[in-house]
Amino acid sequence: MSFDPTPQSGVLLSVAVSAPVHAGMGSVLSYSHTEPVASGQLLRVPMGKREVLGVCLGPASAQSAELANVKPILGVLPIAPLSAQWCELMAFAARYYQRELGEVAMAALPPQLRELSAVQLARKAKRKTPAGSPISGAPTAQLNAAQMEVVQAFNRDTRCALLFGATGSGKTEVYMALVAETLLKNPSAQALVLVPEINLTPQLKRRFEARFCPEYGEHAVLALNSGLTPAQRLSAWTAAHSGVARVILGTRLAVFASAPGLALIVVDEEHDPSYKSQDGTRYSARDLAVWRAKNEGIRVMLGSATPSLESWNACSEDEDGKPARYLRVNMRERIGSGSMPKLRLVDMALQPKGSLLAPELISAIAERAKTGEQSLLLLNKRGYASVLHCPDCNWKSECPNCSAYRVFHKFDRSLRCHHCSYTQPVPKACPACGSLDLQMIGKGTERLEEQLDALLGALAESPLRIARIDSDTTRQKGSLESKLAAVHGGEIDVLVGTQMLAKGHDFRRITLVAALGVDSSLFSSDYRAPERLFGLLTQVAGRAGRDAALAEKSEIWVQTHSPKHPLFGFLARDDFEGFAAQQLLEREQTGLPPSSFHALLRCEAKSQTAAVDFLQRAAEQLRQTSTAEHLSIYTPVPAIPQRVANIERCQMLVESASRQALQRALAQARPSFNGLNPGKGEGKIIRWAIDVDPAGI
Ligand code: ADP
Ligand code: ZN
Ligand code: ZN
Repeated sequence: MSFDPTPQSGVLLSVAVSAPVHAGMGSVLSYSHTEPVASGQLLRVPMGKREVLGVCLGPASAQSAELANVKPILGVLPIAPLSAQWCELMAFAARYYQRELGEVAMAALPPQLRELSAVQLARKAKRKTPAGSPISGAPTAQLNAAQMEVVQAFNRDTRCALLFGATGSGKTEVYMALVAETLLKNPSAQALVLVPEINLTPQLKRRFEARFCPEYGEHAVLALNSGLTPAQRLSAWTAAHSGVARVILGTRLAVFASAPGLALIVVDEEHDPSYKSQDGTRYSARDLAVWRAKNEGIRVMLGSATPSLESWNACSEDEDGKPARYLRVNMRERIGSGSMPKLRLVDMALQPKGSLLAPELISAIAERAKTGEQSLLLLNKRGYASVLHCPDCNWKSECPNCSAYRVFHKFDRSLRCHHCSYTQPVPKACPACGSLDLQMIGKGTERLEEQLDALLGALAESPLRIARIDSDTTRQKGSLESKLAAVHGGEIDVLVGTQMLAKGHDFRRITLVAALGVDSSLFSSDYRAPERLFGLLTQVAGRAGRDAALAEKSEIWVQTHSPKHPLFGFLARDDFEGFAAQQLLEREQTGLPPSSFHALLRCEAKSQTAAVDFLQRAAEQLRQTSTAEHLSIYTPVPAIPQRVANIERCQMLVESASRQALQRALAQARPSFNGLNPGKGEGKIIRWAIDVDPAGI
């Protein structure tokens, strides 16, 4: 039977709709319409009994057998079509991260586009954007020689550039200079600047606004992050899609922004783990940014004081002298020639047993406070104590739903599971034996704050002002901002907190930084732990001595039981290069990324056995693919933690020296995975997912 592509019923369209991997159906379906529709056009289409959002991918070439079932679309949204390049980005992300195209595309669009009808959207589009307060300009810093050299080197090259710049070396000024050049060259150009964390955006946003709004208008700088309300997300998306927003500042999701004039991408703190999504499509926004720039023929700059070993590695020539994939540009000096803080290692083995803070450190903090200087204490654990323990019967505060301990939070006297949020009042006596002698193991920020207060109170004449910043104390909107303002305003002597404090903040009066509880990262089974610790310590050290006048006397203290660990040697010399070389060598010798490529198959089920069985069947499928000989498929192992909210978790590592071979095998085997799930009974699989380039194994 032949098919006439223009029958009375109109044209056939290929449309991406939201359908998760597990639905077992494709996410690109055929629909009909009375007239042709542009590729990239947003549509409303029927799916089952529902009406859903779709993206037109172009004309469909449906098999005649399917034609009988083709339904007409319900409407065309009054929004300019997405660009071909945007659709290509979605297709690449879906292919590379082994997801459905429709799912990736829908997650990249603001949720309100899915929910509002065409009429509601048209009404919203007419509404004027509220006027913001006028923004006055800030003096533009004259770039120094190092910064100018970086800009010139970037302009001479076409490759992805890695800006290796110390904290406080003026990287942000360089980004702004590149953005300024880009906007100047072309009246419709847009720049995308990715940043790791939500809490970074307010300060950075003000800096960019002050620089670009006076010239390009009050809506020229746009912040896109997951903290926006659905309505704000829609209007932000529209501002970028329509070209009104010229500078888009955003967290990882912003890499998917529709920006028709996109001409430059910057990825600040490119090593930051938050660029890697940990659910849904497990994409890396940094890697997608690099791909996107290449695909759109535009420039991209990654920046960091401690680049990821992947990016660092991409800056060296390969063995046969082929030029490096990335161009490395350096800024090693801090602005104002301030030096990096001196490292002081405190050997905890020599301290009084059980002490939280070395006495020396306490007095150093008290000394700073006398002269109006500030100290920052980093402890990457919130709560009061990690575990509550009964020495009489060995009861511990295990979570009944997870293979993890519940954490004691003193402020509301609760035991809380940080994995499933299960919360109970803290028992007065041991629930198992009734003993009243419950003890606390492990220290969190809450306890640190309390003990610090007591220890310092004994030293100082007037009590020192301590502020704690972690996700417990900053849950309320505005509380982080007001705490940070108090620090900037000099109303705080000591700042205690988790890694939220390490990043980005431009504190001027901090001259002492101390990191506690870092030893677990030195000996972790996670091969990326040392890289992350080095990054974190460099970042947090970067919060001290930002004022050149105080830089000389600024210090970073690290409390450890292993002061001789080689990582500290590199840190003391501020020698990231040496550290990276050593880590890369180790990775090469052990065949770990970036010397190889990883994918994790993750599986969740009611029992470990069911999850293991599923993964073993998946391994069988992978062994039958055309590139199987290039794969190493490892035995499934329990994830950490193994059980969360009463669901057993298991994972299987697939490794290859060839990215293509790994990709091909996954693409070939994946369609069969749903069929491996018995779907009911003991062996039922609740969820499975593929994590390409996982953050850890
Ligand atoms: P980074 O992003 O590398 O941490 P920033 O760009 O934030 O560094 O610069 C650190 C500080 O130095 C900021 O307060 C910034 O305003 C200032 N600064 C940067 N470049 C210059 C310059 N060329 N002249 C004067 N001050 C500068
Ligand atoms: Zn007991
Ligand atoms: Zn739990």
